[in-house]
Amino acid sequence: VTGWGLIGASTIASEYMIEAIRAQPGHEVVAVASSNADRAKAFAAKHAIAGAYDSVADLLANPAVHVVYISTTNELHRDQVIAAAAAGKHVLCEKPLALNLADAQQMVQACADAGVVMATNHHLRNAATHRQIRELVQGGAIGRPLFARVFHAVYLPPHLQGWRIDKPAAGGGVILDISVHDADTLRFILGAEPVEAVALAQSASLAREGLEDGVMAALRFDNGVVAQLHDAFTVPFAGTGIEIHGDKGSVVGRNVMTQKPIGEVLLRDAQGEHAVPVEHESLYERGVGRFCAALRGEGEPAATALDGVRSLATALAIAEASHSGKATRVATLQ
Ligand code: NDP
Repeated sequence: VTGWGLIGASTIASEYMIEAIRAQPGHEVVAVASSNADRAKAFAAKHAIAGAYDSVADLLANPAVHVVYISTTNELHRDQVIAAAAAGKHVLCEKPLALNLADAQQMVQACADAGVVMATNHHLRNAATHRQIRELVQGGAIGRPLFARVFHAVYLPPHLQGWRIDKPAAGGGVILDISVHDADTLRFILGAEPVEAVALAQSASLAREGLEDGVMAALRFDNGVVAQLHDAFTVPFAGTGIEIHGDKGSVVGRNVMTQKPIGEVLLRDAQGEHAVPVEHESLYERGVGRFCAALRGEGEPAATALDGVRSLATALAIAEASHSGKATRVATLQ
């Protein structure tokens, strides 16, 4: 059995990831670490997990833990990934990988040096919808891609209205939370890298302490595509979607910027508009499945560690552009 240790008694682990790990044959969740002993125990009891720790070091010292899934608040990811790598554990880390690029690159290096697999939990790449959109775009169905629009303005549910809206030091704010996913999804669909960002952010109602709860941004990609992003915590009824517009057609994903295996894909071209069939499956289960395959030496994780770094670099450029009011280059990696 490949044993997983959860670092972070989090909502995402509870709502999606424990189930996704347990769906993999030969994989089991064997331990959880929280900063609080009572929370660790309660979380372990609720999810029938054998080991409950109030220290990451103790969890990492458990030889039954071969892999860790890190879903603490964002400022903690760096040291936890580096400690896990030093203990020889493979790492599936939540996005954003870190609060700055140097930290993220250090994490990737630590895993490479230790010879452990590291992946980033960008779930949207695993959606049947986004995979179909990528296939259409990269297969030439819309001709040359020119523009993209991402609609990812949602309402942050009350049970998540914590550090995301009031803790800058924990990497709160909509840009590190949602724009980073948009960036990753566009990189995946277009097979291109963002090079430049402009952005206007908003702090309308939920966010405090100088954090933003909404943003409109534009990105230029290295293949010439210009993309528009609209991300928010404050908008209950906008609906989500993604559109890629080319010189021969447009592909439209409706209701696809979501954690759920839902949504539809439409193709519009000279032949008219038609729905493109997709076979939905759990995004998280597929993502964990790809990660487990990578552990066996079968291919790459759906979103690699480097994908996490590049998508973070894009989100950081959006944040910087929104603060400075200036067009900002996306940092290139060595
Ligand atoms: P949570 O706020 O649920 O959990 C983050 C941390 O908060 C936990 O590790 C826990 O600390 C602490 N915490 C949880 N519940 C309580 C409580 N009742 N009282 C006090 N502290 C508590 O965050 P999320 O699950 O929403 O996000 C965690 C990470 O996952 C972030 O990096 C986020 O960006 C990412 N994420 C990714 C998603 C994806 O689809 N890829 C979706 C959602 C989140 P401790 O562990 O010390 O107990």
